[in-house]
Amino acid sequence: MNRKIQTVAFLGGGPAACTAAILLARRGVRSVIYHQPKRAPLIVGESLVPAIVPAIVPILRLLGVEDEVRSYSTYKPGATINLGDTVNFHFVFANIRGPLPGYAYNVPRDKFDDTLLAAARTTGVKIVEAHAGVEKICGVEKVKLDDATLAAAKEIFNGQQPDLIVDATGRVRLLPKLLGLAAREGGRHDTALFAHVDRTHLDFDGHVHTTRLDHGWSWRIPLPGKVSLGMVIGAQHLPKFGPTKEERYDNLLKQDSVLMKVAKDAKRVTPVLEYTNYQLVSEKLFGDGWVLAGDSAGFVDPVFSSGLLIGMQGGVLLAEAIGKGTERAFKKYERECIHHLECWHEIAKYFYDGRLFNSVSVGEKMEKKYLWVRLTAPWYRNHFGKVFTGAASNSNFSIGMLRWVAEYSAKQENPDAMMIR
Ligand SMILES: Cc1cc2nc3c(=O)[nH]c(=O)nc-3n(C[C@H](O)[C@H](O)[C@H](O)COP(=O)(O)OP(=O)(O)OC[C@H]3O[C@@H](n4cnc5c(N)ncnc54)[C@H](O)[C@@H]3O)c2cc1C
Repeated sequence: MNRKIQTVAFLGGGPAACTAAILLARRGVRSVIYHQPKRAPLIVGESLVPAIVPAIVPILRLLGVEDEVRSYSTYKPGATINLGDTVNFHFVFANIRGPLPGYAYNVPRDKFDDTLLAAARTTGVKIVEAHAGVEKICGVEKVKLDDATLAAAKEIFNGQQPDLIVDATGRVRLLPKLLGLAAREGGRHDTALFAHVDRTHLDFDGHVHTTRLDHGWSWRIPLPGKVSLGMVIGAQHLPKFGPTKEERYDNLLKQDSVLMKVAKDAKRVTPVLEYTNYQLVSEKLFGDGWVLAGDSAGFVDPVFSSGLLIGMQGGVLLAEAIGKGTERAFKKYERECIHHLECWHEIAKYFYDGRLFNSVSVGEKMEKKYLWVRLTAPWYRNHFGKVFTGAASNSNFSIGMLRWVAEYSAKQENPDAMMIR
């Protein structure tokens, strides 16, 4: 792939596609987004980490949409993790030193996606509201737009295939499936049940709350006038809560001993959506005339709300690679995206096996005992804060340090008490 790229077709119009398309349109690259809106009544991906705001001199500001996003979102000053009645961790973004702003947003995803698509349209990207169809070219690892898809944007492509096809179809993963691309799946087999409820208890306004349940864990994301409440549970535990996803969700609300407390009066106000298999990394992200972006390239466990950060930061990197148009630039894009996904997979692993918060707890105990720990603790704490806000989530140094601390702490104290059951 070594050529000047002047025309690009984006399959799917989610945040990853819109980010790249807006930046490319500003460089004069002619782009078309084929977008078939999701038919689901609600969309996951409502909690943003602060790096969404400042990455590359803030992504949302860079795209010119922060004011609009703020107008309909919930201000998010931090995150709260409850692992039991007595084990609670509160992260306040403003306490983390560094270039990040001390906040993020919880966004109604339908509005957020509309904002990004409208910004793309305003910047000059052609939006085709239709399903994009592609065909595999026989005998090679190559694809082309089908006739109807090509014809729907004839004023941009003039009947010629675009220079590049970007698969941004999210978890549909159109090209990886068509081309049979290899991917590594994560080891967990959980199911996420997700809906909006009218209210729940919240320890801190605006915080995303991550709470360990009898089995699995739940998220509570406060949105204007309601709360997004999801439960992530090992598939083997679900049948006893009923045959349908609605019954399972409602029964978990009534029967899980933790949800009974934090969501006692919660009433479900939407249908329930179910997701399975959300740990995956593609081994190859680009080929002759095509590239994968966002969830199509890979996705991570939702526990630390990192999906949009990875997808939108990837969109910024992709625009740079397309601007250069060289094999080397696409290799760099591939390397950085895979590395970022793998870092979050590792962080999620430490969450599930208990080592992540065991290390926080061990650190707090050692702080009381040793002066050297007291002196170095603020530095460690700041580094870990930067990992979770996304500022250092792909830094080898920070992830290496997290790994070391997780392993060291597990030798001091058994992490099983902190693990997700
Ligand atoms: C349970 C769960 C909870 C999550 N929670 C969070 C969270 O709190 N915070 C966070 O940051 N991330 C979260 N995520 C991840 C986040 O939702 C995704 O990472 C993000 O939406 C990916 O963006 P994208 O642009 O790659 O794809 P998407 O947002 O999926 O957009 C792809 C679009 O392409 C369209 N499309 C598909 N096929 C075609 C086609 N052939 N033609 C035209 N259009 C097509 C789809 O309809 C869709 O609109 C969560 C994920 C899950 C599974």
